[in-house]
Amino acid sequence: MESSGVESAPEGVSGGEGGAEGVVRVAVAPSSLSPSRASDFMRCPLLYRFRVIDRLPEKPSEAATRGTLVHAVLERLFDAPAAERTAPAAKSLVPGQWDRLRESRPEVAELFEGDPEGERLARWLGEAERLVERWFSLEDPTRLEPAERELFVETELDSGLRLRGIIDRVDVAPTGEVRIVDYKTGKAPRPEYAEDALFQMKFYALVVWRLKRVVPRRLQLVYLGSGDVLTYDPVPADLERVERKLLALWAAIREATESGVWRPRPTKLCGWCDHQAVCPEFGGTPPPYPLAVRAAESGARGAGRMGPV
Ligand code: SF4
Repeated sequence: MESSGVESAPEGVSGGEGGAEGVVRVAVAPSSLSPSRASDFMRCPLLYRFRVIDRLPEKPSEAATRGTLVHAVLERLFDAPAAERTAPAAKSLVPGQWDRLRESRPEVAELFEGDPEGERLARWLGEAERLVERWFSLEDPTRLEPAERELFVETELDSGLRLRGIIDRVDVAPTGEVRIVDYKTGKAPRPEYAEDALFQMKFYALVVWRLKRVVPRRLQLVYLGSGDVLTYDPVPADLERVERKLLALWAAIREATESGVWRPRPTKLCGWCDHQAVCPEFGGTPPPYPLAVRAAESGARGAGRMGPV
């Protein structure tokens, strides 16, 4: 699967602890929306519940971890003066960034357990280096001076819905025009799926528009896996459409949260889902629903008792 780098975890929830095994996870109702979690809900409402409400742990994957590593390298490269942002310099950052990633997220080391000679790790690091190198055929960092890197953004719409996320890079031209850039370590989607890929970028564009009162001039997805660049120049009507879509999505999420009804939606992406063991589509039983359900629909099912999925 493609990876888009750093996740804004814990997304969509207010408070609580989660993630690593052995840590107490406190279930709370979702209070904000990020592109990743919005995509989760559209893909499978039950997956959204497992991730946002139950906060079930997930194993790190080689692809996602490589994505995080490559993003870190591309971000750090801009610390160097423009003339020194070369492909060899970028590749030389890979081992150090891998060390930092293992320090901040020790669980990623389990990816290479049972690899005593380090062959799998060496191959994996080599793939990360190739992705970093390919970036230089798509963009020229010696000619870029990003205004922001790994920018956390958050805004509240008039409706009260909070949107949040992390933008890989923001470029601002001398004319003030804004370009939002996102790196993907996977391959570019087929044209019929380009709209799905742009959803995340339009989400960010809406947040920037609401925060800065400027519609970004260009949205740019850089696919390091296939060496493609997908761009889109949004207009206000695009972003208003995205806002309406997000409001409808949020209404559906709130309805599911309050009723406790989270339907599984099986697709071929289930093969990538960590939660098959607790998914009814695969013969599993979800954990007891940890939030109170609406009184009118709860009947004998009080808060803390098992709700439907
Ligand atoms: S296995 Fe498929 S249907 Fe079940 S929760 Fe995961 S994505 Fe949804």
